[in-house]
Amino acid sequence: MKILVANLGSTSLKWRLFDFSDRQERMLHKGGFERVADYPKAIEDCLAQLRDAGHIASEKDLAAVGFKTVMARGLNGCVRLDEKAVQAMEAYNSIAPAHNPPYISGIRLFAQRMPKTPLVGLFETAFYRWAPEAAMRYAVPRAWHEAGVRRWGFHGASHKFIAERSAELLGREDVAQRARRLYVDGGTSPVRKPDLRIISCHLGGSSSISGILNGVAIGNSLGLSPQSGLPHNNRVGDLDAFALPFLMRTTGLTLEEAERLMCKESGLKGLSGGHNDIRDIQTQAALGNRDAKLALDVFVHQTRHWIGAYFLQLNGADAIVFTAGIGENRSEVREAICANLDHLGIVLDVEKNRSARAQESAISTPDSPVKLMVIPTNEELVVAREVKRFLEKHCIANHKS
Ligand code: AMP
Repeated sequence: MKILVANLGSTSLKWRLFDFSDRQERMLHKGGFERVADYPKAIEDCLAQLRDAGHIASEKDLAAVGFKTVMARGLNGCVRLDEKAVQAMEAYNSIAPAHNPPYISGIRLFAQRMPKTPLVGLFETAFYRWAPEAAMRYAVPRAWHEAGVRRWGFHGASHKFIAERSAELLGREDVAQRARRLYVDGGTSPVRKPDLRIISCHLGGSSSISGILNGVAIGNSLGLSPQSGLPHNNRVGDLDAFALPFLMRTTGLTLEEAERLMCKESGLKGLSGGHNDIRDIQTQAALGNRDAKLALDVFVHQTRHWIGAYFLQLNGADAIVFTAGIGENRSEVREAICANLDHLGIVLDVEKNRSARAQESAISTPDSPVKLMVIPTNEELVVAREVKRFLEKHCIANHKS
């Protein structure tokens, strides 16, 4: 069974092709285009690459196309992306303006190009369905809550991958199995002691921290929208709700302009005075740019803040894991995040940390009670596995295997 996972940006298309034949799980192909002007052509070129590489004869060989969809009104988990589902995503365009619109238009183009191929989305909110209600509730009037104003949590595919892989690396195959089957079995089945407590730090263009107990998320730093929690590359992160009415009344700021500024001119870019890539910010900070240094300090402070929150909720941690662009590649940022935590049993091995780059690595000292790890994430694999389960569960077998 071949499943294509498509990652859709407003001007990018990336993909990975997985094969689940013969009880094996293999990635056959990965590729992508940046600065896409003609999206239908990009889809066509993607299929051409898969054909040229000999992985498919035509799109009929794809059992499904999977998508890492962000959020939709009334939908969660793994879902067939028919027009009704796409409209449910559209209903949340204003909550996820950077994510939902490109996914919606991309999904519609895939549907036009291959109307017979099932399109299946795994929503990023799926991993938090079993988080305690107290962790997901805002203190707002009930009517607001019922209208959808609650914490949802995002980056679910990435944090779920970390839940599984960290358990494997820590020798807890039982927890890894449980995490792998989470979306099928649910998160409420009895838990075998001792517990496995993981704090997963997905630090990239978009950043979030999850607390994970025995493979199940207990919460995530992202709340109602993917603009909350830690500062992101251009997106604001947590902001007091009263800031907006204050600015609108005192400066005449319009809602549309406020939305644009919070999505495109805030986060690391807003703090640093224009740089949204942590590499440029680090370079600027080294040259003495005070705003760039402050951007780094705020990012590190917020990351420690959320690690601290889950460290308490989990009654400590067995491991803290770093993943995504910054988490996998920026040892200086990891070093700053892990500084002076020895009283909590968190001790970084500075040398191991400096030499760890985008590969699975243990970066704590051998006797650190809390293990520190770098694990490259694999969100597409999580999506592909869930899409496969979805097809099997719903007996969608109009495909070759
Ligand atoms: P992601 O969203 O996971 O793709 O992460 C992208 C972000 O990671 C970029 O905006 C950079 O700030 C940061 N980053 C730092 N080092 C690297 C690197 N070597 N490769 C890619 N991204 C990096």
